Amino acid sequence: MSSDPSTERARQAAKIAGKPEEYKVCEGCDSIVARRAAMCPNCHGYRFNEEAQAVIEQAQLLGTRERTSVVSEDLL
Ligand SMILES: [Zn+2]
Repeated sequence: MSSDPSTERARQAAKIAGKPEEYKVCEGCDSIVARRAAMCPNCHGYRFNEEAQAVIEQAQLLGTRERTSVVSEDLL
């Protein structure tokens, strides 16, 4: 299995941008977390921006940035 991390990140960003209603943006650290998460897994914040537009913009940002975690599932 070969997966280029940056390709993977772009793919994940595209997936999130395609389904913004399933995600929200943490107002503490700007991570994208699953809508059903009660707390941000990164900073343990509990304030989120649930606007689809904000999620899409953040996903695009994360897709192009170098070191960021998009939905930190793989860190858990
Ligand atoms: Zn956070």
